[in-house]
Amino acid sequence: VLQPPPATVGTSVAEVDTPALVVDLDAYERNLDRMAAVAAAAGVALRPHAKMHKSPSVTLDQVARGAVGACVQKVAEAEVLVRGGVEDVLVSNEVVGRTKVDRLAALAQHARIGVCVDDAAQVAALSTAAVEHGVELRVLVEVDVGAGRCGVVPGPDVVRLAAQVSSAPGLLLGGLQGYHGTAQHLRTHEERAAAVASAAELLRATTRLLDEAGLPYPVVSGGGTGTADIDATAGVWTELQVGSYAFMDADYARNLDRDGAPVHTYEQALFVLATVMSAARPGVAVVDAGLKALAVDSGLPQVHGRPGVGYVAASDEHGTLAVAAGVDAPRLGDRLLLVPGHCDPTVDRFDWYVGVRSGRVDAVWPVAARGAMH
Ligand SMILES: *Cc1c(COP(=O)(O)O)cnc(C)c1O
Repeated sequence: VLQPPPATVGTSVAEVDTPALVVDLDAYERNLDRMAAVAAAAGVALRPHAKMHKSPSVTLDQVARGAVGACVQKVAEAEVLVRGGVEDVLVSNEVVGRTKVDRLAALAQHARIGVCVDDAAQVAALSTAAVEHGVELRVLVEVDVGAGRCGVVPGPDVVRLAAQVSSAPGLLLGGLQGYHGTAQHLRTHEERAAAVASAAELLRATTRLLDEAGLPYPVVSGGGTGTADIDATAGVWTELQVGSYAFMDADYARNLDRDGAPVHTYEQALFVLATVMSAARPGVAVVDAGLKALAVDSGLPQVHGRPGVGYVAASDEHGTLAVAAGVDAPRLGDRLLLVPGHCDPTVDRFDWYVGVRSGRVDAVWPVAARGAMH
């Protein structure tokens, strides 16, 4: 059961109830345009990740700018996107268990569906389900290129698994996935470039083995917001899986560019709008957005446009702000924009996006795949 939206299209931002998940639509659209231009200039496809935004509307905005489809992590997210009109979805993740594999195959009757594997048992399970449902699933062999999460160790094991996919009924060998998750938040450009170079070399060596075995790899999918500029021109990836760039967060804002200054390619477009609900103590203000409104795994939120005012502690439904000496303290009823530390899990705490342009509510979108973790 959804909560009613906190805003109505056409009203002033001043009337939006808080806490609210607010998108600056102009900044968001510029972000989409910029990444589309990065991919187009490098001649690689864009398949933005929807685990961050969980919204078919956002994916359709990305597709309108040339994206080939979306990535998701969960079958339930794929179901929501397909229901919302998205025609091509890659589950950039392993899917394990009869129930999920069946749902994935059933979904392939309605859209082009891809999935990753790193184990022969999964090839067999996906093949059985694809045959039962009369569909073809596109399968990418996931290669661990340094993140140390899922994926086959680069080398002959990848070739063995790719050969199994290629001969399995109902499956189409789509190529490889190599996503270097931990490289995204390495702070200096140099560190990120080194991590990407190493991942690219592992993938290149693996594709040479596939060539020798006569196995095709039409797609090599990977990349993220932190390394997209490097991934795009590495000459290995044919498809970028970037997610956070559409909205950004305080943690990505800590990445540094070649010149040592914070990266500013993508703008902060996502905020949690909060109200000061208590200002009873001097030097302190309390807002109505705490842990239930903001993910703090990548650091506390930042108070946008209020130097000297810091979000210093989060409890369930309260955020405590400390005010530096000599700075005007926020007053009871003041409304503040908070920049989330980590956009993905923050979005998943809300039922609605409030899209804002020129001080007015321009759009209200459901976070349609909120809680879609199955
Ligand atoms: C999260 C994720 C991405 C996107 O990462 P961002 O940092 O949000 O751009 C891409 N691929 C996979 C497999 C992911 O899990």
